Amino acid sequence: MSRIDLEQVFFDWNRTGFKSALPMPTLRWNSRLSTTAGRFIPDRREPVIEVAEYLLELENAEELVRDTIGHEMIHYWLWMKRRPYGHNAEFYKKMEELGVSRYNPVPRHRPFKHCYICLECDQRIWVRKRLKGAACAACCNQYADGRYDSRYKLKLAETAENPAVDLEVPA
Ligand SMILES: [Zn+2]
Ligand SMILES: [Zn+2]
Repeated sequence: MSRIDLEQVFFDWNRTGFKSALPMPTLRWNSRLSTTAGRFIPDRREPVIEVAEYLLELENAEELVRDTIGHEMIHYWLWMKRRPYGHNAEFYKKMEELGVSRYNPVPRHRPFKHCYICLECDQRIWVRKRLKGAACAACCNQYADGRYDSRYKLKLAETAENPAVDLEVPA
């Protein structure tokens, strides 16, 4: 499907940054990721690293995919060592060591600071100011006769200060 070989990128990072100590996880493209470039799904049986497919449409796709996999591999590496594997001090130290730059998929000039998500239909809505108790209009129209229904309340997904969460919560 794409000219970028995820396994090859993983293999290269593993050799240069992790002494080839990381077992190959499941690597796959995800066409639904839109507010983050990639994510790591911790699963003892099958750890997964996903890369957002939209990166392929961007000019420097190769570099972005490389950085994204490097980033997710640091989560994976910490997790394998049974260390806290979020964006913590140890994470940033390794990031610097590898020379991975965090790709932030939200353009800097975007005037909309907050991203809300409807958990029902997965729609993302960007706004300048924080919303209080707003619900998804599409879902309210479709399932609640156009009336406000708190079941379709929008959830804050991302802010400029707190960029995309790229970690799956372990089950
Ligand atoms: Zn909705
Ligand atoms: Zn991350």
